[in-house]
Amino acid sequence: MTPDRTPLLIVGHGTRSAPGVAQFAALVDRIRRRGVVDDVEGGFIELSRPPLTDAVGALVGRGHRNLVALPLVLAAAGHGKGDIPAALAREKQRHPGLWYAYGRPLGPHPLLHEILAARIDAVLDGDDRAGTGIALIGRGSTDPDANAEVAKVARLLWEGRGYAGVEPGFISLAEPSVPAVLERLRRLGARRIVVAPYFLFAGVLPDRIVAQSDAYAADHPELDVRVADLIGDCDALADLVQERHAEALRGDIRMNCDTCAYRVALPGFADKVGRPQTPHHHPDDPAGGHGHHHHDHHHHYPGLRPGQVAIVGGGPGPDDLITVRGRALLDAADVVVTDRLAPTGLLSGLRPEVLVVDAAKVPRGPSVGQDTINDTLVAHARAGRRVVRLKGGDPYVFGRGHEEVQACAAAGVETVLVPGVSSALAAPALAGVPVTHRGVAHDVTVVSGHLPPGHPDSLVDWPALARARGTVVLLMAVDTVAKIAAVLIEHGRDPGAPVLAVQDAGLPGQRALPSRLDEVGALTVREGVRPPAVFVLGPVVALRAPARQPAARGQQPPR
Ligand code: SAH
Repeated sequence: MTPDRTPLLIVGHGTRSAPGVAQFAALVDRIRRRGVVDDVEGGFIELSRPPLTDAVGALVGRGHRNLVALPLVLAAAGHGKGDIPAALAREKQRHPGLWYAYGRPLGPHPLLHEILAARIDAVLDGDDRAGTGIALIGRGSTDPDANAEVAKVARLLWEGRGYAGVEPGFISLAEPSVPAVLERLRRLGARRIVVAPYFLFAGVLPDRIVAQSDAYAADHPELDVRVADLIGDCDALADLVQERHAEALRGDIRMNCDTCAYRVALPGFADKVGRPQTPHHHPDDPAGGHGHHHHDHHHHYPGLRPGQVAIVGGGPGPDDLITVRGRALLDAADVVVTDRLAPTGLLSGLRPEVLVVDAAKVPRGPSVGQDTINDTLVAHARAGRRVVRLKGGDPYVFGRGHEEVQACAAAGVETVLVPGVSSALAAPALAGVPVTHRGVAHDVTVVSGHLPPGHPDSLVDWPALARARGTVVLLMAVDTVAKIAAVLIEHGRDPGAPVLAVQDAGLPGQRALPSRLDEVGALTVREGVRPPAVFVLGPVVALRAPARQPAARGQQPPR
């Protein structure tokens, strides 16, 4: 196996137990010695040494800027969802340019179930599984989802292994408690009970499991109560950590279907792996069976795979004019490359580990701005990240979106395009002007004013535009609108035709300034119209009837 070059940062929450710290260190060492991951460090967010900041400092000191940060927790609860990402965010501030992919919690995973079964078999020492009830004891959390994970593991541990039963319980914060689970198993008829701690390493809480189990056993001499070993530092756990590392770089880290019978061989379900699900019949379902397609649920909507670039349009102005699809892809991104006019307010809602690159500030090397942006997109995609290129309005309306698609294609990087809401149509609408209206205008032409009439590179047929009767929307024309108006009048457009300038459409500071074709240039200067603004020209402007807008969530674009 070739070593995986992106280093692994294993993050523990820390314990007051010296053996627990030693087991953590032994696991880090075991993974390091294997050499499959190029560089490995471990650190704790509290209580134990080394602290996380030392571990990150060591990796940065060896020249690493990109890492995989893996929370060494069994289930996603407060530590994995909150404390560890917060500690990592502080490290990111300490080390500018640091990027990391955040790995998934270890469980549920079949490897863990195998380890638990082995620990239980060891303490059963030849006694049969069928006559044994298992109490699987998790940490317990105020997060019901984390507690439900323990219930799920209990079920999966039972599945196909022949124990009399597996009942979940908790040592802290959640019910049922250890004595309550043991009592439940006793009433169900169990005479032999194995208490299996669902814990990685030694600590205060696992010690408490032993103490409470012993106390219960002392009160019930008719029962045979044994406590299995912890998961501990072992090869199977190291395998799992390596899998989470690889997955954080290349796989999908937000799915939780390692325990799905269609993906891994579960005892008794091995024939399902890799097969499409067969339609099945629910006896209580009046509609009879229902068909399932392959396992589509393994792809989150609408799918942005590592190594792909999504060109995502937003809306003009307020952040929430983005499409539902655009928003979903943004949430799936590892890297977001933004523009000045993009809905940048959405960026504050991204997971802390998402890398945000401001395209306006991309350092320019030998190449011009767009080339540098293209290179950035390609480089992150090639590193196996999910890349979103976030733009204002529609990426294909004066947005250079297709240049980025072409550059990615040339580099062999797949792209996904999500259309946006273009200011060309939306800015007039937000100011109360329909760009078409039955009986008034049956055509609308969207024109860039970036190059004025007469410019050698201009591709616009200005005289034809002057002869047309419908709507004209000018973008990027604040500096050129006077020249454009003059040419249109020169070629026959009515000098008195109404024009509306719409600045900062959709934003709290939106301005809509009515004028005439022969006056719009002077008005623009006099009123200090500034980009971003559109000019809409034509008979539809006379229909203007501003509609109320919902309170916008947007922010003023930077100037
Ligand atoms: N792809 C974008 C346009 C990019 S060109 C889209 O489809 O909207 C930039 C021009 O868009 C600006 O010069 C301005 O003419 C227009 N624009 C963008 N946001 C705007 C806004 N909130 N209000 C008015 N015009 C806007």
